[in-house]
Amino acid sequence: MSIKVLKFGGTSVGSPEALRLAASIIGQELPTGGVVVVSALSGTTDQILKAVALAGKGDTNGALELLGAIEVRHRTAADALGVSRAVEEAWAPLFDRLQSLLEGMGLLWETSPKAKDAALAIGESLSANLVVALLQAEGLAARLKDAREVMRTDARHGRARPRPDLIRTACEDWKPLLAQGACLVTQGFIGACPDGSTTTLGRGGSDTSATLLGEALGAEEVQIWTDVDGVLTADPSLVPEARPIPVMSLREAAALSAFGAKVLHADSLAPVERGGFRLVVANTHRPEASRTVILASTDGQDALITSVAYKEGLVGLHFPPARDLDAVFQAASDLQDAGAARYGLLCTPEGSLLAVRPEHPDAEEVIARLKASGLRVETGLASVALVGEGLRREPGRALALLAPLERESVGGILSGGAGISVAFLVPDERLRELIPALHRRFIETKG
Ligand code: ADP
Ligand code: ASP
Ligand code: MG
Repeated sequence: MSIKVLKFGGTSVGSPEALRLAASIIGQELPTGGVVVVSALSGTTDQILKAVALAGKGDTNGALELLGAIEVRHRTAADALGVSRAVEEAWAPLFDRLQSLLEGMGLLWETSPKAKDAALAIGESLSANLVVALLQAEGLAARLKDAREVMRTDARHGRARPRPDLIRTACEDWKPLLAQGACLVTQGFIGACPDGSTTTLGRGGSDTSATLLGEALGAEEVQIWTDVDGVLTADPSLVPEARPIPVMSLREAAALSAFGAKVLHADSLAPVERGGFRLVVANTHRPEASRTVILASTDGQDALITSVAYKEGLVGLHFPPARDLDAVFQAASDLQDAGAARYGLLCTPEGSLLAVRPEHPDAEEVIARLKASGLRVETGLASVALVGEGLRREPGRALALLAPLERESVGGILSGGAGISVAFLVPDERLRELIPALHRRFIETKG
């Protein structure tokens, strides 16, 4: 049995038109069944987070107003698709639950990460039920399977770590259904921890849900359907000239996403490596347009630099020179446990630099504690990474890549462990100018 997993991101299910396109892609790609992973309708996760924040300040009315807007948005989409009656039974308890959660938070003026995850999961559940109703209306044998049946994680609410071994075992129950030709629709982004409560994998985590399912089910291909024509040479919002990359190596994709390219969640490539399946990134709005195929390795003719990634909002922790590095490693490990994403760790005799993005309130707390203990903490940093398999062939050329930056305030220069990236830190505000300039120099003109 060859299994395909298709994942549709927020904008791919964000309007009736997009949902119709997604349904037609599913019909074409999964004629004999498969797995469909969906995100919440675009903007819904942000709205739920806003509602939770208001409830946490005691503003229950404000939170419920946002819930009203979420409800209207979803019902309008269902109406336009002619599936209002079909979704009602599944949706009513979800809206009720979100209301109760917000009221509870509003009453207590408290929003624990666990409660927040319970609220967030409703966005993906609403969307998954809508997609099931639409597919059934179009005659497909679609059924909802709750991701929490299989997506086992630890209990770090808000940025939970998946447990691939447990996910694989749990997925055995889904295989017979797939063998019968079922189209299983499930929520991205969410999972369940040992006490049974809902967890989330971190913002953008639906990509990781899809690749984890691909790994656990032994899929031959996972397709990430999004709003751009594949993985591009840079973020198109900063570089309108960015072009799709037709084929890229898994190492490149992993580096690009780890250094912040939002198109693939940073944790989504490890399951691809373990599972050995093909990963495809394509545009729901232009299914016939170019797409990116990510393969274990490419043919060795790769350009020096194939893409540029960046991430803002980083914090640099500066450690003084020390005989041993215990304090540095302890901070790195505490921050990782607290949910921070690590962008670089540089240890030299003149001192050490740890660059992280907090991502989770617990990590903010660890940073505040380190600062209070006298550590120099630098905020407002961004990382920039130049990525390309070609750097493995000619590692020395990494030096030349830094030459155009001589007037920049560059810090923490790192040449990545896999030998296919050069990354450095700059002040956040330099990104708008720097990323297009680097793209022009190294990609558009193949400098
Ligand atoms: P989805 O909701 O489908 O998961 P995301 O917004 O998470 O979509 O990711 C797609 C977005 O990622 C694109 O619209 C684009 O703005 C951004 N992006 C950043 N870097 C890249 C890149 N190198 N290639 C493609 N898209 C990128
Ligand atoms: N809905 C979640 C988010 O907005 C997960 C995802 O889209 O991948 O972060
Ligand atoms: Mg995404």
